[in-house]
Amino acid sequence: MTTPAEIFPLVVPANEDGTAFEGFLTLPKAGSLRTALWMRLSDVPLSHKSLQGAKLECSRELSDLLEGCEDTIEARMGDSPDVTSFFLELRNILDKLLRFRPPLEPPPSSFYTGLISEIDDVGWERLDWLCLNLSALHIRICDAAGRDHILKVQLPAAYPEAAPLVTAQLPEQVKLPPWQPGSSGLQDLVRHHELAIASLQDLWACLEDLDREAWVLEPEKPTRADVSRRIALGGHCSLLLELDPERPRTRPAELRLLGSEAAAAPMRARLRAADAAPWDASMLPRENLERLLQMKLPTRATSAPDDISGDCCICYAYRLPTEPAVGGAASLGEAPDQSCGNPRCARPFHGRCLREWLQALPTSRRSFNTIFGECPYCSQPITVTAS
Ligand SMILES: [Zn+2]
Ligand SMILES: [Zn+2]
Repeated sequence: MTTPAEIFPLVVPANEDGTAFEGFLTLPKAGSLRTALWMRLSDVPLSHKSLQGAKLECSRELSDLLEGCEDTIEARMGDSPDVTSFFLELRNILDKLLRFRPPLEPPPSSFYTGLISEIDDVGWERLDWLCLNLSALHIRICDAAGRDHILKVQLPAAYPEAAPLVTAQLPEQVKLPPWQPGSSGLQDLVRHHELAIASLQDLWACLEDLDREAWVLEPEKPTRADVSRRIALGGHCSLLLELDPERPRTRPAELRLLGSEAAAAPMRARLRAADAAPWDASMLPRENLERLLQMKLPTRATSAPDDISGDCCICYAYRLPTEPAVGGAASLGEAPDQSCGNPRCARPFHGRCLREWLQALPTSRRSFNTIFGECPYCSQPITVTAS
């Protein structure tokens, strides 16, 4: 088992109860940076579930180095179950930064003249942000529908021979040409992204129509990289669909009904019967769904939340939280997979929640691997496997 001391040997506990650590971070490959940078971590919560709320103080050199990463560090703190995990995350962040930040000796003057002329080509008016030492910049791309896209570019010291690190909100299916040293640099980069963004216009139009005209349950805050949506159909039933970024108006490959069988079965039958009235690629996906399901999709304006969510009616969550694996992020928990068989109730439950609920009731019986009991809402008979 790794200990904090193995990650940062010069950072030591600063009190007896283990809520504060202080010392020097030793950095390999730190260029001319002083290789030991002071830090202090205090107010570490003792719950050992997350470091949320802990306070990180840094020397000036260290905070200069971490500039712009404050949100990431805060998020990692929230995700880290203990100090060791957080130190590992912090070391990863520092490793990445040191790789992409230029060393303190300035890069050759050609780096600056080259970069300035590349920004001239792109247009200074499209520059959304520029890091003081020119090691990172954001470029704004406005698309035909007036959406703003921000291209975040980090430049390694060896740029343009070494490839820049680029992040943009694009679906993962979108592949961009690899970096070519000696190409027209930023201008090429922007052009490739403009082409990709232009090709995704209809995808975003279809998804925005769903976001506006349906009740999207997941993702809670869709980004332009998300091509799937889980939309509410009412009656504790929802539909998961994933659009093809290249052909967003064709019938989605993923079209999965979730929720109680009583509510989902008639919907499934209508989708299957779609052979008689096939998917019409000239219409929006939402219009096709409404036509095939023979219903207007519920929206937040037209429906009551308790009928919509598909959340488990015992724990009131959709995803049952899972314990994060050591060093990994919490995976998406399981969705409700049980439901009351009474069509007028049809409430969804997580198997685990229903099992715990029924096991706690004296009226429940167990026979072999099945627990027989009553639905917590309508008291009609309900069963769940015991393990
Ligand atoms: Zn539950
Ligand atoms: Zn029921």
